[in-house]
Amino acid sequence: MMTLNELGNLVAERFTQTYGRPPRWIAAAPGRVNVIGEHTDYNDGFVFPMAIDRYTVIAAAPAGEAPARVQLRSTVGNGPASIDLAQPLKPAPKGTWYNYPLGVLAGFAARGVKVPGFDALIHSTVPLGGGLSSSAALEVSTATLLETITGHKLDPVEKALLCQKAEHEYAGMPCGIMDQFISVMGRPDHLLLLDCRSRQTELVPMTDGAVELLITNTNVKHELTGGEYAKRRAQCEAAAKSLGVASLRDATAAQLEAAAGKTDPVAFRRARHVIGEIERTLQAAKAVRASNWAKVGELMYASDASLRDDYEVSCPELDAVVEIAQRIGPAGGVYGCRMTGGGFGGCTVALVRAESVQVIADRIAADYEKRTGIKPSLFVSRPAAGATVLRA
Ligand code: ADP
Ligand code: MG
Repeated sequence: MMTLNELGNLVAERFTQTYGRPPRWIAAAPGRVNVIGEHTDYNDGFVFPMAIDRYTVIAAAPAGEAPARVQLRSTVGNGPASIDLAQPLKPAPKGTWYNYPLGVLAGFAARGVKVPGFDALIHSTVPLGGGLSSSAALEVSTATLLETITGHKLDPVEKALLCQKAEHEYAGMPCGIMDQFISVMGRPDHLLLLDCRSRQTELVPMTDGAVELLITNTNVKHELTGGEYAKRRAQCEAAAKSLGVASLRDATAAQLEAAAGKTDPVAFRRARHVIGEIERTLQAAKAVRASNWAKVGELMYASDASLRDDYEVSCPELDAVVEIAQRIGPAGGVYGCRMTGGGFGGCTVALVRAESVQVIADRIAADYEKRTGIKPSLFVSRPAAGATVLRA
């Protein structure tokens, strides 16, 4: 596996091939995986992600021919962007890849920070659209580059919120705050406990090198027509209202049980997931601090069962991976596994022993393909570094 510095050098070489001169600045930002705390963000709860060893790197040099233009090229995007800095910035049509960096440029402009023209090349080892947040990695790497170019350093929270706003207003994606926060604030050997209500963060050490996180992409994404995400949000709001609290963050399991008779049964189960998941996330942070991997694993399985049965956002492919992991079990080096992300496809995350990771990955890949006929993609990572300046 390439180190981040080696990846930076590779992108520098590609930049030189593309533009005929070397880059002056290089910045990088990682993708992420959420270890536990699912569908808690919009209920004012906690999430517990980590940065992964997959990065978006952006290399840049002062503009060549047109000094007031930004040229953006990606090794995977559909064609270059040429942005005129003398004109007011506005979003390109929905689905255009460079809306993410464009929104970040707009965020700097809105703060009155003058950005000079530059030429940039973007390269990513975060899979696009794979649930590991290549979008946040693209935004945060861009913001980090702009900090370096302009010398205008942002506070980490402000930087994450600027990137979130870019995703909302330029990419048209109403995401929460997790992806941008962890991509900005990730640190090697640490998970990030993030309070989505207060936006307070706590880096939780996970220094035991004997464990790693194994991410399996089911490589399915079920298209749902019923607006399932919006439905879940509405059900949570209804449940909070019937419990007389501002959000489910303020409700306890005992409160919910006491109201069981007069709560709609579906809303009851949705609320039971959220209330339980917030508690599990806090317990998981404690267990990580204590290097109690059996406990963390148990909480991950409990999270998965709750998402599957009470929140009903799983699918047969996600369930298959979790079942295979469970069957390998602690004797085979698997402590726990759960679906991660919104659901209905995407990825699982498993806590595994580092020494067994290759055997576990091979077994999951083979058994999953046997059961579903689909080839999965697997990644392994320790908690990695957040946004990094590689050349200033
Ligand atoms: P995810 O964040 O889970 O990877 P999204 O749909 O939120 O999935 O973001 C993926 C989109 O972000 C891509 O379709 C593309 O438009 C844009 N994108 C992300 N990384 C890059 C990149 N390195 N080059 C070009 N576009 C990118
Ligand atoms: Mg995304």
